[in-house]
Amino acid sequence: MLEKDKHSAEEIDETNGEETQRSHFLYEAIEDDQRSGRFDGRVHTRFPPEPNGYLHIGHSRAIWLDFGMAEDFGGKCNLRFDDTNPAKEEQEYIDAITEDVRWLGYDWEDRLFFASDYFDQLYDWAVQLIKAGKAYVDHLSQDEIREYRGTLTEPGKDSPYRNRSVEENLELFEKMKNGDFAEGECVLRAKIDMKSGNINMRDPVMYRIIHAPHPRTGDKWCIYPMYDYAHGQSDSIEGVTHSLCSMEYEDHRPLYDWFLDELGIYHPRQIEFARLNLTYTIMSKRLLLRLVREGLVRGWDDPRMPTLRGMRRRGYPAAAIRAFNEALGVGKRPTMVEIEMLEYFVRQDLNKHAPRVMGVLNPLRVVIENYPEDQVEEMDAVNNPEDPDAGMRKVPFSNVIYIERDDFMEDPPKKFYRLAPGREVRLRYAYFLTCNDVVKDDNGEVIELRCTIDPATRGGDAPDGRKVKSTLHWVSARHALEAEVRLYNHLFTTPNPAATEEGQEFTDLINPDSIEVLPTCYIEPSVQGADAGSIYQFERLGYFCLDPDSTTDKLVFNRAVTLRDDWAKMQKKKG
Ligand code: ATP
Ligand code: MG
Repeated sequence: MLEKDKHSAEEIDETNGEETQRSHFLYEAIEDDQRSGRFDGRVHTRFPPEPNGYLHIGHSRAIWLDFGMAEDFGGKCNLRFDDTNPAKEEQEYIDAITEDVRWLGYDWEDRLFFASDYFDQLYDWAVQLIKAGKAYVDHLSQDEIREYRGTLTEPGKDSPYRNRSVEENLELFEKMKNGDFAEGECVLRAKIDMKSGNINMRDPVMYRIIHAPHPRTGDKWCIYPMYDYAHGQSDSIEGVTHSLCSMEYEDHRPLYDWFLDELGIYHPRQIEFARLNLTYTIMSKRLLLRLVREGLVRGWDDPRMPTLRGMRRRGYPAAAIRAFNEALGVGKRPTMVEIEMLEYFVRQDLNKHAPRVMGVLNPLRVVIENYPEDQVEEMDAVNNPEDPDAGMRKVPFSNVIYIERDDFMEDPPKKFYRLAPGREVRLRYAYFLTCNDVVKDDNGEVIELRCTIDPATRGGDAPDGRKVKSTLHWVSARHALEAEVRLYNHLFTTPNPAATEEGQEFTDLINPDSIEVLPTCYIEPSVQGADAGSIYQFERLGYFCLDPDSTTDKLVFNRAVTLRDDWAKMQKKKG
């Protein structure tokens, strides 16, 4: 087991091409600062989500880094909502995000903050910049601003409003704040350099007018700071030492620096890392929102979604998500990680922790003709061979059981070792079973098997030492719990659905077979009374999580992952 783990950890390094965990460049950068005493030995990070959607597996990476680095260095990590755009943000998202960060296993203690807590301070600082001649109110329209901005190859042009006097700017900004202008009529811009090689420095917008109530500040404001104006200053206010961001903020760093320097306030260190991308799914909140709004999935917590909600409902343990991040290491190059690698970590975790039970997904009725109709035996079953403390349970056996339809063939090909007419197999924890007869319906479909057991093989071994070639799982019909089981496949048909071809929408790439519902499955009675979220291994079939849709009459299970390690296979193929 250990040997195997080590092997795969090495392989992960190769696929990612970056340093191993705990020696990644980000860890080393913080370590350097610790050594040089740059922040008086403090490590203070923050996770800064915008509450405009639910957290996804990509965010888990930032959360793991922000909270994890603080933890590693005995520091602190804040949870701060960058709630600067009331047009897109909602309380629902704030609640879900706090719950999901907690579920992932992280704690911000009493340090829950909001950029909106700083609106007064940010406003005062904007006034300070205006007074210093470093900001101005611009009446160009949004389109004109875009036009004037230039391109990567062409410099921008100064706005005709750029040289307004400080007095005029102060007055206009005050009016903006008082609601005297309509949305889009004017904005406040930083006065930096329209010819800068970095487009972010070409007089970026600091404030825009939004006549919408804010989830936290209500109607107090109708001007809202842009993310780029709020973010660095929020970090500064909170005394953040290491502001860890994904790579797309690298080009924004000079702007954050400019604001902090012009204001003359405390300066955190920003370090960027590569975003996580996973095959066969998408990470854009905008696109995820479309899936939900257009009813293409059942909601943010649909088990096919890459959201933490979805993964939790599907049965992915938080510990597996953390271990996955750990194994990935940290790099600066964009990474497209195979979804099978995440599944591998889910399987590893569940293998250790999920109790085993027997469940039959595609039932075939088996009548055992030499077993007394009124008899029930309680068979001893192992709860988890990986966990010696998990103990044993009793599984009832009777004369009518269900087995998996796939486990029987009337005319088996050579390599089919499971049940067939005249053949003997083992029923897990019970008896050797021989099929004597096949019952068919009018269409010739097999609907029942007539079998016998060998009473001498109770427990699953023959005293005469004879062997069978396969062991089947089963459920006693009389004792079975009925369940609907939902099987999942990739949400998209291509590894990178964000890269659509011309004339194609990402929604065109949705896998029509991403969910398969098996309406009538049978599960052994030991799962009776389990709470939603309980996860089991159904022997030979995979790991299954009890869904909140379950009722007293019918359980609902989601398959988290199969038992097959696709990722190991992929690694082998790559050599
Ligand atoms: P948006 O496109 O709405 O800005 P976002 O995914 O960047 O979406 P935020 O709420 O701003 O959403 O993200 C919070 C933090 O999570 C940011 O610091 C961001 O860098 C990080 N993050 C988001 N997506 C990923 C990802 N795929 N991999 C790593 N970090 C991510
Ligand atoms: Mg963002």
